[in-house]
Amino acid sequence: MKGQFPIEKFKSLRTPFYYYDAELLRDTLRTIQGEVGRHANFFVHYAVKANANSILLKMIRQAGMGADCVSGGEIQAAIAAGFSPGDIVFAGVGKSDWEIILGLERGISCFNVESMAELEVINQLAGQLNTTARVALRINPEIGAHTHAHITTGLAESKFGIAIRDMEAVIERTLSMEHVRFAGLHFHIGSQILDLGDFHSLCNRINDLQLQLEQRHIMVESINVGGGLGIDYLHPNRVRMADFKNYFGTFARRLHLRPQQSLHFELGRAVVAPCGSLITRVLYIKQGVTKRFCIVDAGMTDLIRPALYQAYHKIENLSSNEPMETYDVVGPVCESSDVFAKHIDLNCCRRGDFIAIRSVGAYGEVMASGYNSRPLPQAYISDDL
Ligand SMILES: *Cc1c(COP(=O)(O)O)cnc(C)c1O
Repeated sequence: MKGQFPIEKFKSLRTPFYYYDAELLRDTLRTIQGEVGRHANFFVHYAVKANANSILLKMIRQAGMGADCVSGGEIQAAIAAGFSPGDIVFAGVGKSDWEIILGLERGISCFNVESMAELEVINQLAGQLNTTARVALRINPEIGAHTHAHITTGLAESKFGIAIRDMEAVIERTLSMEHVRFAGLHFHIGSQILDLGDFHSLCNRINDLQLQLEQRHIMVESINVGGGLGIDYLHPNRVRMADFKNYFGTFARRLHLRPQQSLHFELGRAVVAPCGSLITRVLYIKQGVTKRFCIVDAGMTDLIRPALYQAYHKIENLSSNEPMETYDVVGPVCESSDVFAKHIDLNCCRRGDFIAIRSVGAYGEVMASGYNSRPLPQAYISDDL
């Protein structure tokens, strides 16, 4: 399965770089929109934080998705890529005044509000601008997702969202405000979730909350269930995309939407992760005392997920069909955590070989840093090579 990479074309490029398979992204977008299209009131907002590459953003926008932004910079990137402000939602626990003002001035569709304090500020700033902000309240559903502790967000102790026990008070306050309009409820339980039972639990929680609010005669216009659908990092060649059919089907079957209610999703990783690879060259092979190191020219500054979350990415030697050898694949950055994988088998590596680190389209390029004064990685789309 090395044929999908245009290695001849890579030879003239400086490594490391991100390489995006446009065909796979288009396939993924078609699949998502095909599944969403079965349900008249389902909408997907792409979570821009997963990958804000402008070419990918344009492809995603052309596929008909909205944008889910978590900063003023992302709102600007989304608008620059052609997303209509009416299709942009803005989330985050710590929105600065300038970011709220930007959202208000551009007329974004919704602020996902995470605290009473933030609600007061949005009401005040909207008043100053003589406008009304549509707000959804992000409720912490107190559901543990079966994923890495650093990327679970829906537990009671998490910094995200409004506690269930405060929900009614915050809604009452929202309804009493002059410059905000209550648009709905927002949830997000975590990321890289492969157990659809976690989304089923979220549906049960939302069903209960809806009944509770109906008893108080509170109407909810839209429900936003966030993102979090995971992908298969182990088998990128065999499992090309996430199981969108079962994901959307779970919500269609389990969530009791009221007539007129719309259901919003904020998928990030599942949209873009599979289509990206980090392409790097082997610099040196070093035989240590107990192990053999494959030292590559990409480092944790280009892809921090392995160092930050102990994330697994499949690694392949694109230049060799020689017998397998065992290596630790490491970068050049002066940190012991600058390791992409330990004790993995690769076709025998030599200086200059191209190595592909797979499934890095989400939370890869966007998290790159300039630590060690390293340049940011370049990015290429298969269409343009
Ligand atoms: C990060 C995030 C998402 C996207 O999560 P994925 O796991 O990439 O799908 C969606 N909504 C919110 C509020 C987020 O913080």
